[in-house]
Amino acid sequence: MALKTAGEYLDSLRQLKMQVYLLGEKVDNFVDHPIIRPSINSVARTYELAHDERYSDLLTATSSLSGEIINRFTHLHQSTDDLVRKVKMQRLLGQKTASCFQRCVGLDAINAIDSVTYEMDHKLGTSYHERFRRFLKYVQENDLVVDGAMTDPKGDRSLRPSQQADPDLYLHIVRETADGIIVRGAKVHQTGAINSHEICVMPTIAMTAADSDYAVCFAIPADSPGIIYIYGRQSCDTRKLEGGEIDLGNARYGGQEALVIFNDVFVPRERVFMCREYQYAGLLVERFAAYHRQSYGGCKVGVGDVLIGAAASLAEYNGTAGASHIKDKLIEMVHLNETLFCCGLACSSQGYATPSGTYLVDLLLANVCKLNVTRFPYELTRLAEDIAGGLMVTMPSEKDLRHPEVGVYIEKYLKGVAGVPTEHRLRMLRLVENLTMGCAAVGYRTESMHGAGSPQAQRIMIARQANLEHKKKLARVIAGIEQEE
Ligand code: SF4
Ligand code: FE
Repeated sequence: MALKTAGEYLDSLRQLKMQVYLLGEKVDNFVDHPIIRPSINSVARTYELAHDERYSDLLTATSSLSGEIINRFTHLHQSTDDLVRKVKMQRLLGQKTASCFQRCVGLDAINAIDSVTYEMDHKLGTSYHERFRRFLKYVQENDLVVDGAMTDPKGDRSLRPSQQADPDLYLHIVRETADGIIVRGAKVHQTGAINSHEICVMPTIAMTAADSDYAVCFAIPADSPGIIYIYGRQSCDTRKLEGGEIDLGNARYGGQEALVIFNDVFVPRERVFMCREYQYAGLLVERFAAYHRQSYGGCKVGVGDVLIGAAASLAEYNGTAGASHIKDKLIEMVHLNETLFCCGLACSSQGYATPSGTYLVDLLLANVCKLNVTRFPYELTRLAEDIAGGLMVTMPSEKDLRHPEVGVYIEKYLKGVAGVPTEHRLRMLRLVENLTMGCAAVGYRTESMHGAGSPQAQRIMIARQANLEHKKKLARVIAGIEQEE
């Protein structure tokens, strides 16, 4: 069975010779760095829960390539049931980590590349699909984390890749050799890149013939020569260097984003899945984005569950749980959160098989899902802050709580209802802070806006899928202007 344990995953990361920079310093042992480690712990849970029989129907699947039991994060969806299980798995992991667990970008990348390479080969006579499946078999057999790297820096947004003043603002092919290609550029806000074994690069927008050097897709080991990782800052990240626990809100888990630089990186031919076939860049973007927009109907809901739980707990600790407006706000939070889950499930259950056999989500519903995600977590956050109270942003530190002289005052004056220790109230407030404006806000709040594409990208896709002509015809028939066909 090809299921790694969490410990084996950590060991495998230690083998990687990655060039990582954080806070202006080169980090040699990134696995044990206090700022990075919580994000590794989140990914490790995707391994750990796969061994837990309570969750094995969600966390594992039977490989369509080998017939072996594999981690679902390396699986090609074979049915709408697989798509539904993916969303449920993401909700579960959101609940268990209260952060971004990062492994979904690779899952979404492999599923998108699988169907697109199949269709591209059929149309253009290329042979990428077989190559890609060989790579995927290796990923499944070794239970690897794959970083799905799509977003380029993009420079001047009004210009196409080939029109930029600096040609490297979109990742591109610099040279081709008999054995492979050499690429240069960068990928920005790369979720979980430093916790990945493989980096799977895709184009970030539809391309024209003039941009064909930018129409490139490949996978290479994360520690390939020429790749540099610069860790993204998170709000309150240096609290992780203070040695305490309470002020972190979520001391064990976190997300991770990095700027990834490709300095003339060699990619062997065997690992190239698109090489200047610009006609297929747009389709790959569209499918990857659709899968990742589906993903948010799972992960954000799981994190939302924790946020609702924290708000409800604080209402009890504050003695406000019985107030009707508080009850109503909690109901509103549940309503918003479950609406997102409905969207994630709906686009999954309405999915369909692509010619390669791999299932794709319903594109319209996946985009509706993500457009709701650009709004609802903000409202959930607002309601949680309302219920929590202002103490969330004014209370003293853990060190003050532990201080021999002033600690007693914090114990005494920051207590809520009798019977609940002050420390519990402070811990819960810090958790809400973490989720709404601390480290986890990267994954829960701002990523809800921009992750998997900013809102306008969903509006464009919704406009494309809306079929307004059909709706107009329906209206004409009902209004008696036209006969039903
Ligand atoms: Fe997965 Fe959500 Fe993180 Fe994306 S934001 S990688 S879907 S947990
Ligand atoms: Fe994301």
